[in-house]
Amino acid sequence: MTKNIFDVIVIGGGHAGTEAASAAARMKKKTLLLTQKINTIGSLSCNPAIGGIGKSHLVKEIDALGGLMAIVTDYAGIQYKILNSKKGPAVKSTRAQTDRILYQQNMIRLLKKQKNLFIIEDEVEDLIIKNDFIQGIITKNKKKIYAISVILSTGTFLNGTIHIGSNKLKGGRIGDQSSIILSKRLREMPFKINRLKTGTPPRLDGKTIDYKKLNIQHGDNPTPYFSFIKKNHNRPLQIPCYITNTNEKTHEIIRLNFYKSPIYQGKIEGIGPRYCPSIEDKVFRFKDKNSHQIFLEPEGLTTNIIYPNGISTSLPLETQKEIINSIVGLEKTKIIQPGYAIEYDYFDPRDLKLTLESKIINGLFLAGQINGTTGYEEAAAQGILSGINASLYASNLEPWFPKREQAYIGVLIDDLCNKGTTEPYRMFTSRAEYRLLLREDNADIRLTEIGQKLNLIDEYRWEYYNQKIIKIKQTKEKLKTMIFHPNTESTLYLKNKKCINIKKKITAEELLKRPEINYKDLMKIKLIPNVHYETEILEQIEIEIKYLGYIRRQENEIKKQTKNENTNLSPYIDYTKIVGLSKEVISKLNTYKPMTIGQASRISGITPAAISIILIYLKKIYLINKYKKNNNN
Ligand code: FAD
Repeated sequence: MTKNIFDVIVIGGGHAGTEAASAAARMKKKTLLLTQKINTIGSLSCNPAIGGIGKSHLVKEIDALGGLMAIVTDYAGIQYKILNSKKGPAVKSTRAQTDRILYQQNMIRLLKKQKNLFIIEDEVEDLIIKNDFIQGIITKNKKKIYAISVILSTGTFLNGTIHIGSNKLKGGRIGDQSSIILSKRLREMPFKINRLKTGTPPRLDGKTIDYKKLNIQHGDNPTPYFSFIKKNHNRPLQIPCYITNTNEKTHEIIRLNFYKSPIYQGKIEGIGPRYCPSIEDKVFRFKDKNSHQIFLEPEGLTTNIIYPNGISTSLPLETQKEIINSIVGLEKTKIIQPGYAIEYDYFDPRDLKLTLESKIINGLFLAGQINGTTGYEEAAAQGILSGINASLYASNLEPWFPKREQAYIGVLIDDLCNKGTTEPYRMFTSRAEYRLLLREDNADIRLTEIGQKLNLIDEYRWEYYNQKIIKIKQTKEKLKTMIFHPNTESTLYLKNKKCINIKKKITAEELLKRPEINYKDLMKIKLIPNVHYETEILEQIEIEIKYLGYIRRQENEIKKQTKNENTNLSPYIDYTKIVGLSKEVISKLNTYKPMTIGQASRISGITPAAISIILIYLKKIYLINKYKKNNNN
């Protein structure tokens, strides 16, 4: 038996584990990343795409904290699209299709060169726990490795079961073994564990697709970056995707074969992702729709494998072939790997603090799909947060977590830890109350300084960030002093091109507040300062000026909320003693023991009326204590 001592051990090299390990090592903690196979670190288990609506906000926040996901995406991105660009800055989202191999290679490369980080290939079979404190782990090779904190980020691997038709096999995802012994050991501990499921489509041989029959979809030009720091490297070649659709024939095949689906046979107990249903689910649930869109997305630059986005399935392989060949352009297409569904253990995230530390075992953190989420981005967001807090814990420092009004990461953990989830949780912009403040474009402004204080940010990023802030500040000042006078060449341009009649002098800042005007217009009509700045900076200036009124309103709302939000609730409060609370409310508060009024208000079933009763109770207790103190004096 060998004995090692680390500050932080991370179990699992998925999207949560890689961000967790990188964050802990950047915070100068002696960190061990222990994973089943080094060459599957950063594997994109489903489609090789990063971002999308709501998810991209998480990626940008991870990046703002110095994380890896956005940088690695920029090394591997083969098609970028800015989604919702016309719907306003709050919901604008970046999505990148990546080369699966490049993504993994770059993730492994960056981790291998990270100081303080050690990587071992092994499987964890048990946790070492003493008096409710984590002490370390025991591996399959019977190594005992000790650490002050441990992060469990085993994704879909805990007792993972793969379903293809009536075939059932053990696996964490296709080609990888599931983690059975660890799952058994964890089930002996006092955690609340349940089952969820997810699925993936068959992979297609691109050489057998008839692209001539399909609609082509190109990425955006110029190619956007995901990372704020836009490292200057050669971007991979950008290639198109193609679009096709299911049709009546496809749906008929599915309907005839419903009975062969493991879900309808009752073989899968776990609930699947509502927003990413299998094709059989879609046909069953949306009976009036006779066609569903499919994006044919290349898995990389050096492979013929195509990912058909939109037809995840666990029907038998023979049926999958029939389905595929019924679709336009795919009549002769061959399947390289079958689609499948996977069921796995997940832990009730309400057993976690907002730092992702277990409420049951001190120093044990849980991050990623294990907490009931779905998606690489949601996993990575939890990864970085757990890495930060496992490091702070190891140094005996105060924890840090963002609040709902500060970051989508804050919304994610607040939802998970307070409300829990019974189906795979994915991020949407609609989950955030203060969307105009939590834009993807300002994630660095919201978080990079915090990241710097936490020791997460390297010199290059810090310098880059500070330059950006200076440019924004200076330009905004200049716009305040630039005046447009009536009847000049510039204002005539505005009248002719934009139907804006300038009757008295107006500043460039005031002009930019008008909905019809953007920064590019200002650049056309007059020599506007710093036109050589990158689009992102100009865009930032424009958003800050144009939406100032709305932004202020949201900030005021937050101030009002924060007053009560941060009111502490002692874990020793016996809610049965508070008159006026319903039995349901008492039971929930006694079970979850929220730490603040804000947390209490987000537990499902805790009504605003209940919150008022608790606030009155706290006031009464405060007055009684004050009275007692005065009398004792
Ligand atoms: P993972 O990426 O699963 O990584 C877990 C890591 O832990 C792996 O490296 C594994 O080797 C390691 N590990 C496990 N057990 C041990 C152990 N005992 N010891 C050491 N190492 C261990 N997401 C979507 O958003 N949309 C989808 O449509 C979608 N479909 C999916 C389909 C399938 C079939 C699968 C498998 C996943 C799908 N996902 C989908 C989910 C997405 O892959 C995950 O959300 C994401 O990968 C979770 O990241 P993670 O870090 O939590 O875990």
